Order: sequence, then C-alpha cells, then structure tokens
Amino acid sequence: MNPDFYGCSPVDLSTWVEDAGLPAFRAKQLFTYLHSQQPERFAEVTVLPKALREQWDAAFRLAPGTEVERQESRDGTVKSLLEFADGKRAECVSIPTASRHTICVSSQVGCAVGCTFCASGLRGVERDLQAGEIMWQVLHHHRRRPVTHIVFMGSGEPLFNYEAVLRAIRLLGDPAGMGLSRRRITVSTSGVAERIRQLGDDEPQVTLALSLHAADNATRSQLVPLNRRWNVDHLIEALQDYATKVGRRMTFEYVLLADANMSPQHAQDLGRLARRFGAHINLIPFNPVIQTPHQRPSWDEVEDFAAAVAAAGGHATIRGQRGADIDAACGQLALKHADG
Ligand code: SF4
Repeated sequence: MNPDFYGCSPVDLSTWVEDAGLPAFRAKQLFTYLHSQQPERFAEVTVLPKALREQWDAAFRLAPGTEVERQESRDGTVKSLLEFADGKRAECVSIPTASRHTICVSSQVGCAVGCTFCASGLRGVERDLQAGEIMWQVLHHHRRRPVTHIVFMGSGEPLFNYEAVLRAIRLLGDPAGMGLSRRRITVSTSGVAERIRQLGDDEPQVTLALSLHAADNATRSQLVPLNRRWNVDHLIEALQDYATKVGRRMTFEYVLLADANMSPQHAQDLGRLARRFGAHINLIPFNPVIQTPHQRPSWDEVEDFAAAVAAAGGHATIRGQRGADIDAACGQLALKHADG
C-alpha cells in the first residue's frame, strides 16, 4: 500500500528519512517542503538528494489525488473535484473574500447520515478519507492563495472519521507546515454526541459547529436521521460538557426549509436553545439545486424566521450564497456558505 505521505508528521517522516540514511533534520525539511510547495511527485522534491528523489519517485505516489473537474464562480469561489488513487472522488471548495481564504473540506466519500436536504447523504458513505487526502484538499488550493481558514463541512460526517480528522487538524497546525491556528478551524457535526465530548478534550481550541436544523426531536429526526441515535436531549448533555471544558462559543447551523422547519414554534425552540448555550446561529436558506423534496423559503419568510429567533433570545445571522452560479455544493457547502 502506498504510504500516506501528506498525512505524515515530521516525526513520521523521520523514519523514512533515517531509513534512507539521511540526517534527522531532513524530515522536518521534507515536511516543510511538502506543505509549502505541494509537489505532486517526488521528482519535484528538490530538497532530497537526486538519487533518492528518483528512487522514491519510481516507488511511490506522492500526491494522493488529482483534480478531475474544476468550476469557478464569478464571485471567486472555486469547486474542485478530486479523484484519489482508488478512483473515489470528493469535492473541496475554495472561498476567497477580501481578508480570508477558506477551504471547505470533505472528510468522507459520501456520507452515512442521510440528511434529507443533502446531496452527499443520498449515496451513503463509500469510505473514510485518509489524513493526507484531507490535507491535499487544502494544499491543492493553498498554491493559489495562502489558506487562512478551514471548515469541515464538505461531504461526510467528520466525527465518524475522527482519527484522520484529528490528525489533519494537527498537521494543519504544525509550525513546520502551515501553522494554522486551531481557532481558524471549524468542525461541523450532525451530532455525534460522544465525539463532541472527545473533541473538547483533544482539541479544545477548534470551533465546533452543530448542524442542528431543528431544536425539537420530532422535526430533527425527520431531517437528520442521526437524531434517532443521539437525540436533542443527548446533544444538550454533550454540549453542556463540551462548553464547560472549552469555554468557547459554538455555532448552530440551521438550513431553512420552507416546508419543514420554519414555523413560529421552530423559531422559538431554536432561539431558546441557542440562548442557553450562548451559541451563534447561522441561518442558511436552502439551496434548491439539490435534488431533494425540500423547498427554498422566500426572503420574507427568512426574515420573519430570523426575527422570531431573535425574539426568543437567539443571535442569528443569515448567510449569503457563495458560488451559486457553479453549484458549489460539496455535500452541505451550498447550504452552509462557510466563510465565517
Ligand atoms: S448534511 Fe452533512 S451530515 Fe448530513 S448527509 Fe450531508 S454531509 Fe452528511
């Protein structure tokens, strides 16, 4: 099996470097080169001696994926479809603004959760992505412009691929590489209660976003099937533990579906729950490009809902749409516009 080089830390690379008879400092040098130059093949890795470069180039694949499709929006959003060595594909999206360059990454090929409004959930999960495959989504776009923020909001449930996601977070933060602050990384979960607690222990500086979409069990179980395993009450307990540990503000993501979760009662439940946790709410008008039974609300309906949430004590903002002209939907991205 080909090693996951882009998923290696400097310590992991030291085994390779030492086995090749090179001094230990070369491992960190190699790590820095991979993360700053994003070479696709070992033939390009000029910090390695020529003979070793050629030997490794013949023996190993370096980049875990290649871009097989690219769409560029008028607003600068770029969606890339990456194909990995086994032919599986996942999307990542680059979202530039004046002051930020956010990458929305996928953590799995497909998704097991099956939210009724999401394209990724329609096909089920095919496999987890390796840490290097997650890193490559970021580094692929880092070439174009330095990346400042990462959101795990592409296809997949990140907390179902916990070890690889955790590893990628740590690689992103490694000072020998991108050195990205944990506070600039958002992990979005549909509600894996046990792992929310674990993330609070392992990486308390990372921002947690809960894809809530309904604050009552009846509605949420319809929209997010995972709610039948960990319901709103379980989530409240997990969020309480998490909030006590990390003391940081979390975000609730709420896709606005005209036909499902926008009654005055839904707004009141959402506002109350957010107030309880001091959570910020992102209201995301449903993007109707996805083939699901749901309907996009009118702007008046969105504003009325936001006002009702505010009246119940919730602090909410309505997200604008990025990449609409290219259908920039990596799983839920079209729903989440995650440049915040
Ligand atoms: S919204 Fe997220 S958790 Fe739900 S099916 Fe899509 S990718 Fe999976």
